Amino acid sequence: MTAGKDEESQMSDNDGKKTLGVRGGPRSGNVKQSFSHGRTKNVVVETKRKRVVVPKPGAAKTGAGKGGQAIGDPSKRPAGISDAEMERRMKALQAAKAREAEEAAQREADEKAREEERMRRREEAEAKEREEREREEALKAKAEEEARKKKEAEEAAKRAAAAAAAAPQGEEKGPARSQKAAPAGGAAAAPRKKEREEDRARGKGRDDSRRSGKLTVNQALTGGEGGRQKSMAAMKRKQERARQKAMGAPVEREKVVRDVQVPETIVVSELANRMAERVADVVKSLMKMGMMVTQNQTIDADTAELIVEEFGHRIQRVSDADVEDVIQQIEDDEADLQPRPPVITIMGHVDHGKTSLLDAIRNAKVVAGEAGGITQHIGAYQVKTDSGSTLTFLDTPGHAAFTSMRSRGAQVTDIVVLVVAADDSVMPQTIEAINHAKAAGVPMIVAINKIDKPAADPNKVRAELLQHEVIVEAMSGEVQDVEVSAVTGQGLDELLEAIALQAEILELKANPDRAAEGAVIEAQLDVGRGPVATVLVQKGTLKQGDIFVVGEQWGRVRALVDDKGERVSEAGPSVPVEVLGLNGTPEAGDVLNVVDTEAQAREIAEYRESAAKEKRAAAGAAATLEQLMQKAKDDENVKELPILVKADVQGSAEAIVQAMEKIGNEEVRVRVLHYGVGAITETDVGLAEASGAPIMGFNVRANASARNSANQKGVEIRYYSVIYDLVDDVKAAASGLLSAEIREHFIGYAEIREVFKVTGVGKVAGCLVTEGVARRSAGVRLLRDDVVIHEGTLKTLKRFKDEVKEVQSGQECGMAFENYDDIRPGDVIEIFEREEVERQLD
Ligand code: GDP
Repeated sequence: MTAGKDEESQMSDNDGKKTLGVRGGPRSGNVKQSFSHGRTKNVVVETKRKRVVVPKPGAAKTGAGKGGQAIGDPSKRPAGISDAEMERRMKALQAAKAREAEEAAQREADEKAREEERMRRREEAEAKEREEREREEALKAKAEEEARKKKEAEEAAKRAAAAAAAAPQGEEKGPARSQKAAPAGGAAAAPRKKEREEDRARGKGRDDSRRSGKLTVNQALTGGEGGRQKSMAAMKRKQERARQKAMGAPVEREKVVRDVQVPETIVVSELANRMAERVADVVKSLMKMGMMVTQNQTIDADTAELIVEEFGHRIQRVSDADVEDVIQQIEDDEADLQPRPPVITIMGHVDHGKTSLLDAIRNAKVVAGEAGGITQHIGAYQVKTDSGSTLTFLDTPGHAAFTSMRSRGAQVTDIVVLVVAADDSVMPQTIEAINHAKAAGVPMIVAINKIDKPAADPNKVRAELLQHEVIVEAMSGEVQDVEVSAVTGQGLDELLEAIALQAEILELKANPDRAAEGAVIEAQLDVGRGPVATVLVQKGTLKQGDIFVVGEQWGRVRALVDDKGERVSEAGPSVPVEVLGLNGTPEAGDVLNVVDTEAQAREIAEYRESAAKEKRAAAGAAATLEQLMQKAKDDENVKELPILVKADVQGSAEAIVQAMEKIGNEEVRVRVLHYGVGAITETDVGLAEASGAPIMGFNVRANASARNSANQKGVEIRYYSVIYDLVDDVKAAASGLLSAEIREHFIGYAEIREVFKVTGVGKVAGCLVTEGVARRSAGVRLLRDDVVIHEGTLKTLKRFKDEVKEVQSGQECGMAFENYDDIRPGDVIEIFEREEVERQLD
């Protein structure tokens, strides 16, 4: 019976629907009655139920199909269940499913209804709200309009009153009309205005809603809306940008192109500073260029220029700092110029008599005329010719002084006297001197010296000079030549007259009435007098009390001493004087300038000192990585001979250093650890000991403590008075560092005819010496088809049964190699000897 109930409930649900599978169900009427009533009562909306079931005919069909199938196919049916039972079960299942679907549909429908209701209510509320707003706004507009009207009316009334008071009666109409018109116009405008205002209000509403969907700056910053969180860094950047903008700082995009002043050298950080770029960026781009420098290092102007260009700025090269500008660079007026004596340098090969000639001239012209004949060596002296001309001779013979002066920009020499010994003719240094003079554009006069010697051959000198494009007058050229003898004094006057003549041709002039400018010829630290410099005045007149700057030093002229050792109060153009009152020792070739104040002098000197320091640093530091590596590699392969040089004057010291630099080759070089002017001291000895260097003293001696110290420490001190001796000695020492060259001599060849095996010896070659000799002690190579297949020594060399030392060409012999056995008939034995050859630096 329960099954029957189920069936009925199914039927009742489908009341009146008459679906296919259900309608045909048995006993439906019965069950229906008993149950359907209560059931149908529960259903809220009949139509809904229909809607759900109808669109799902598949479910019913399937159900029916299934039922049918189950019924029609008893095999698939669980055992012991009758057809009726089966059908009943299926129906119950279907009913449950239908119920489920129905409920879901019901829920959906309810939801929809509620949603509709909500919508409707909202619309109502919105409409109401809108109405309210509109009404409000209309009211407000009206109130405003009224207020305006009132104001206008008042103003009009005021104007009318004023006009009435001021104007005649007839004009009263105007204001009255306008007063009338105003409200009329206002009335007409009011509705339009209201519309506009409403529009605006609506628009505002729209704006608001639109804006609410947008991200405001505030929202973004607080991260409130849209969840878009900005990073701290981004915020900071933003703030920084805002701050920079506020401060008027340049924004990155608008790059400012600067004019960057770059002196000869500049510290990296300073360069960055001048470009207003970050130091790190500058260092980075230097590194990209292969320059490994830090921000505190100095780079040269050329490198700086590349950097400045890379950063898009303009470079302005400044050769000297502004401080130098106080030095007067004015060109003298032609009218102010007065004749001045020529300055002469004597050059020539060693031992051709330069010193002798200088002495002879001085003695002949100075000593004779001076009481006591005391002459003082100050590096230059003046003589008067018989014809009354004054000549200034630089008393520092040799090319080094001349070139080192010239390299410092101090061109002091007007005329070169080329000394050539008549018995020796043109020598290497003669040619060098010719080249120097030519390079400097200085005219020459040839002094053919030692004419007193029997071997003198002045014509040979003239002829040889011709080969070097020095065409003397005797060879119908323009170069004056004079035959002289420094020993006998022959031709000296002629030589001086020739110089005077040459000077006349040159028309040498200078303005004596201006701030003095001169060149340092020699400088030294005098124990009693402090730093002393011999200055050759070139322009103006140097006076006692003048404030000057000279190279990196400065001072005030305390005293002037001339070449005769006498105090003078002033020195004009071409006059050499010793200057006292320096604050330090300048260098030969330094230029002296008189300035106005001590402050200026000090400032310039300090600037030059720091510039020089920077330049030295730049030269050392600003090497590219490649250069550094190459240098390191070179250094590994080069042997160095360290030396210390102490000399009497700066000029000699520099000349020696320059000569030292020239000694050596790619294997050996001389390194001057230190050089200076003055006696050899204990400090020098200490330095020499530390580096295992000898000390070369040129016209100076070691003081007592230095001598003792050198003895104790085994430091070698050598004294010289001729630069060339010093150079030769150093050369010899450097040559000692050259590894001996090994030379090979081929002394013979032998051909292997037969190969024997000898017990206890191994293979022995029966040979014929075809060339030279075979020597037991010599080295041998085994050649097969002209290819070296072994190199070694002989174990045995036999002639018949006897061991011999040598076998001559054409003889037969037996040979066996030390530790080598692979020998064949037809092989050739090459016999050679090695020799170690000591090499010399040239
Ligand atoms: P320097 O190296 O060129 O300075 O030559 P020196 O002046 O030292 O002279 C070298 C050598 O030549 C010395 O021994 C001089 O005495 C000698 N000497 C220089 N001039 C003459 C000369 O005119 N006649 C002769 N006979 N010897 C001279």
